[in-house]
Amino acid sequence: MLKRIKERIEEGNRFLITTHIDLDGDAVGSVFCFYWLLKNCKKDAFVYLRDQVPYKYRFLPGPDDKRLFFKELPLEKYDTVFVLDCGDLHRIGGNYEALRDNGFIVNIDHHNTNSGFGNINLVVPDSSSTAEIVYDLICFLNVEITQEMAINIYTGVLTDTGSFRYENTNPKAFSICAKMTEIGVKPAYVAQKVYESHPKERFFILGKVLNTLEAYKNGKIVIAHVTRDMAEDNYSLEEFTDGFVEFIKEMDGIEIAMLIRQIEDNKYKISMRSKGNGDVSEICSIFGGGGHKKAAGCYINGDLNEVKKKLLEVIKD
Ligand code: 5GP
Ligand code: MN
Repeated sequence: MLKRIKERIEEGNRFLITTHIDLDGDAVGSVFCFYWLLKNCKKDAFVYLRDQVPYKYRFLPGPDDKRLFFKELPLEKYDTVFVLDCGDLHRIGGNYEALRDNGFIVNIDHHNTNSGFGNINLVVPDSSSTAEIVYDLICFLNVEITQEMAINIYTGVLTDTGSFRYENTNPKAFSICAKMTEIGVKPAYVAQKVYESHPKERFFILGKVLNTLEAYKNGKIVIAHVTRDMAEDNYSLEEFTDGFVEFIKEMDGIEIAMLIRQIEDNKYKISMRSKGNGDVSEICSIFGGGGHKKAAGCYINGDLNEVKKKLLEVIKD
C-alpha cells in the first residue's frame, strides 16, 4: 500500500488533500503535515476543509489562504486526492459527492469503521492517529521531517491519544513524539496552545451544559446536551464545546458519556465516549455514524427528547 501511494506521489504533480468536518487536532495536523510533505517533494498541493480551522489549532503551520478552500470542493482535476482521518466519504461535508470527479482517491485513516471508499485504502485501526500513519509514510518515502511537519505530527498524536491517556496510546505514539521533540517541537508550547488557550465564552457554555447532566443505570451512562440557545449569536458551538464529553467522562463510575449537540432545529450531533467495555462505534453505527471503540459519533434527527429516547433504547440493550 505504501509503495502504491509512493508511486502516486512520484507520478503526479497536482494534489488535493482533505479530511472530515468537525476538525480535530489529528485531522488538521495530518492534512497540514501532508501539505508540507508534498510541497517538499516539489509538488503542487491544495487543501480543502469544509470548516474553518478551530481557534486552538490556528498555531499549526499550514498552507496560505490561496491554497485553502472552504465551503465547496473545487470542481477541478487533481492527479490524486488524499482523504485523511475520515471514516466515511460523507464526513468530508459540503459537496463531498463531487470528490469522485476530482480524481483518484487515496484514503489514509485509522477509524475501525472506515468504509474503504478510496481507490487505495491505507486504513490502520491499530495506529494511535492518522498522524502516526502519515509519519510512517514519510519514513517510507525517505523525506526529511521539517519543523513544520514535526509540530503537525506531534499535535495529531498528542490530541488523538488525549495526551497519551486513551487506550490507543501505544509505544509508537511516544517514540514518534519523542522524535518530534528532538526535531524541535516544544511540548509546553503545544500544550498551552491546545489546552490552555480557550476563549472565555467556552466556560460560560460549560456552566450551562453541566446543568443538563442526567445519569442513567446507576451513573454508568451520563448524558449532557447543548442547544443553540445556550450560545450567543455567532458562537461556533462545535468549536466551543469540543472536549466537553471527555470532561464528563472524568466522573467516576461512568461507562458511557454522551454529549448531544444541536446542529439544526431538529438535528443533533452525538459524541460518545466509553470508559468500560462498551464499543461506542457499534452504537453509533446503528444511527449511521461510526468512529472508534472508545470514541465515536453520529447524527440523529428529531427533537431533544426523541433523540435521547432513541439513544437510551439502543444503549440499554
Ligand atoms: P467526535 O465525537 O469527537 O465528533 O468524534 C469521535 C470520533 O468518532 C472521531 O474519531 C470522529 O472522526 C468519529 N465520528 C464522529 N462522528 C462520526 C460520524 O458521523 N461518522 C463516522 N464514521 N465517524 C464519526
Ligand atoms: Mn484521528
